Amino acid sequence: MVYYRCDICGKELPKKSLRYIVKIDLYAAYDTLEITKEDLKKDCLTEIRELLEKMKDMDPRKLEEDVFMNFKYDLCKQCKDKYAQNPLDITIRV
Ligand SMILES: [Zn+2]
Repeated sequence: MVYYRCDICGKELPKKSLRYIVKIDLYAAYDTLEITKEDLKKDCLTEIRELLEKMKDMDPRKLEEDVFMNFKYDLCKQCKDKYAQNPLDITIRV
């Protein structure tokens, strides 16, 4: 009985066979905010209102994906070895 399949080559991974899991968290990095005197003088409420206004018409799922996405894949040993050599797959570089 097949429990898993390799997400790269499609090979069946029956129960108790060697299986690897790749988890990828892709999220927006926010550097520590430094608050200046100028920031304190700003009208934050107006800025927040403007931001909310801009977000109003945006797709909530798209907004969430802009901030955080995660992926999980099952791999066979061969694909895991190949994947580990180049996790960022340079072929996607423009
Ligand atoms: Zn595979």
